[in-house]
Amino acid sequence: MKSAHVELGDIVHGAAPLQRRAIAKTITLLESTRDDHRARADALLTSLLPYTGNSFRLGISGVPGVGKSTFIETLGLYLIDRGHRVAVLTIDPSSTVSGGSILGDKTRMEKLSVHERAYIRPSPSSGTLGGVAEKTREAMLVCEAAGYDIVIVETVGVGQSETAVSGMTDMFVLLQLPNAGDDLQAIKKGVMELADLVVINKADIDPDAATRAQAQITSALRLFGHHGNPAHAHAVHGAEAVHHQWQPRVMQSSALQGTGVDAFWEAVKLFKTLQTANGKLGARREKQALAWMWERIDAGLKHAFRHHPKVRELLPQALAQVAAGTLPASTAARNLLSAQAGQA
Ligand code: GDP
Repeated sequence: MKSAHVELGDIVHGAAPLQRRAIAKTITLLESTRDDHRARADALLTSLLPYTGNSFRLGISGVPGVGKSTFIETLGLYLIDRGHRVAVLTIDPSSTVSGGSILGDKTRMEKLSVHERAYIRPSPSSGTLGGVAEKTREAMLVCEAAGYDIVIVETVGVGQSETAVSGMTDMFVLLQLPNAGDDLQAIKKGVMELADLVVINKADIDPDAATRAQAQITSALRLFGHHGNPAHAHAVHGAEAVHHQWQPRVMQSSALQGTGVDAFWEAVKLFKTLQTANGKLGARREKQALAWMWERIDAGLKHAFRHHPKVRELLPQALAQVAAGTLPASTAARNLLSAQAGQA
């Protein structure tokens, strides 16, 4: 990758085409598996850090076909019209399993992708979910340093990737189909608990079903008791807001017709205002950064363990013995850990 040289200034202050190329190069560097690239990427990220953190980070998930790309395109163009710059990053969990892609095959977000105030980056095409999430989180920082003030991280409805996206964003939004309420059991409770906002999309197709789903999911959210306190989110004004916190809500939209997007963005702004005033937004970011550090330490330790010469030597036999039931799993684990620590 001879193109790997990137100037910090090009990312932070570069004119549009130069900046776009610098962002793409940096993200390619981040995604590289070469150690020297990783070292350069780390140095670059560290120097970019003072310029990051000023965007609003929005996570969006939903099953294939629910209308994610249509919704993000409509929302993105709406935000650009209001002076924002929008970056869209994607975590495609299928790429981590098969190297294939649920999200990437078709042309998505046609208008947004060519807009000069938008930056769209598809999911890293391989790696573990943790690895893909790491690249995406870092790509988010690069986009922030480049002045994108809204970063949308999109994923498909697979539990773990939703947890990853909610763990790197300020607000997590779940898109649902109008018939979602008919089969509430099918909506994983864990994912519902992550949602700060649920949007029933394609409300134009069946308005009655959408209204029903809205009511059913609203009561399901109450049942899950998300976020505690009863707050009067829509009746809050000024200083009073300090004591209130956001309550998850359910809205309707037609991404295709562009309806509901305005109300959606008003809700996002209210979320941001309330959660900033009561300190929850800052606390969430702090918790995310620390969790992220530990996650990466765990992954790094595991990597180092698996690549340790002594471990590599002893592992095949240990695996065979544990599989055959001739060595207790816990003993095998202890032996290998001591071997790595040089005690065997
Ligand atoms: P994704 O797989 O979640 O990204 O879904 P897409 O955005 O690709 O949308 C899947 C299909 O649903 C496309 O044919 C869209 O045109 C259509 N679609 C998306 N949003 C709406 C909507 O609000 N109403 C209707 N009627 N169709 C929609």
